[in-house]
Amino acid sequence: MTSIAFIGLGNMGAPMAANLARAGHNVIGFDLSEESRREAQAMGVTVASSTPEALRDASAVVTMLPAGRHVRTVWSQIAEAARPGTLLIDSSTIDVESARAVHAIAAAAGLPAVDAPVSGGTGGAKAATLTFMVGGTAEAFAAARPILEAMGKKIVHCGDAGAGQAAKICNNMILGISMIAVGEAFALGEKLGLSHQALFDVASTSSGQCWSLTTYCPVPGPVPTSPANNGYKPGFAAELMLKDLKLAQDAAKATGAATPLGEQAADLYARFTAEGNAGTDFSGIIAMLRSAKP
Ligand code: NAD
Repeated sequence: MTSIAFIGLGNMGAPMAANLARAGHNVIGFDLSEESRREAQAMGVTVASSTPEALRDASAVVTMLPAGRHVRTVWSQIAEAARPGTLLIDSSTIDVESARAVHAIAAAAGLPAVDAPVSGGTGGAKAATLTFMVGGTAEAFAAARPILEAMGKKIVHCGDAGAGQAAKICNNMILGISMIAVGEAFALGEKLGLSHQALFDVASTSSGQCWSLTTYCPVPGPVPTSPANNGYKPGFAAELMLKDLKLAQDAAKATGAATPLGEQAADLYARFTAEGNAGTDFSGIIAMLRSAKP
């Protein structure tokens, strides 16, 4: 059993913290929002009244926060309050620059650390089936693994500090682009009089095959579990896809990488969310693609 502080008990953090407690760890959580604290408590998580209080007996800390600036603030607090040797794990999706900056904060305080963003969404958080993409030293990864295993089913060591965040934004850039490609293909197929099922049957077993088509098909019918069959209720909301595409663009600019389709995808999702669809599943962009002017 490990004593674990869990900071950020939102849609993802609360069920992740609950899974750590269910696995037998002593988990003390904290969130700035009283409502989040109450909901986490209802899931079986003990809550503290501040980050330093949550850290009191902890030998590991997990943060699950909205963006880089929140993680920078909280990791600075943790570096001051943590006991020597406390392991720091950040599972938020943040920019690579902030991820490296918070690794440096931990290193300056002599604390082992990993960035460990996730894919799998709130469903994966509840079911403890998340995929963790981990950046940090081999020693820090080995220490983090048993904690991550209580919350996920696939744990991948991607490299040094920031490599987990790098893998996350590259993967989600593929996802955003491929969903637009699949949406455009269905919209063109409709104009050509092709049935959704016919296009699905061909493309899902041909070279057009991809996750956006076979698991998350953006038209109702061919994949009964996809959000298209449920009024495009997320799933993975368009605003979160836009956040990840913007992080990919920030990284592309910072490194001089050419990502023209990633840039277009970010622009299209910016338009889609600005048109009132921030909370729609990201596959719902097919509606905008159908009506898009050339
Ligand atoms: P959320 O907004 O539901 O939760 C974030 C929580 O952090 C909030 O409850 C907020 O009050 C709390 N918080 C902010 N600043 C704090 C501070 N200084 N101290 C303590 N608590 C603080 O967000 P979420 O959906 O749980 O996502 C968390 C992270 O996971 C984000 O980076 C997101 O991009 C990433 N993510 C989300 C999903 C998803 O499907 N929701 C999937 C993969 C990754």
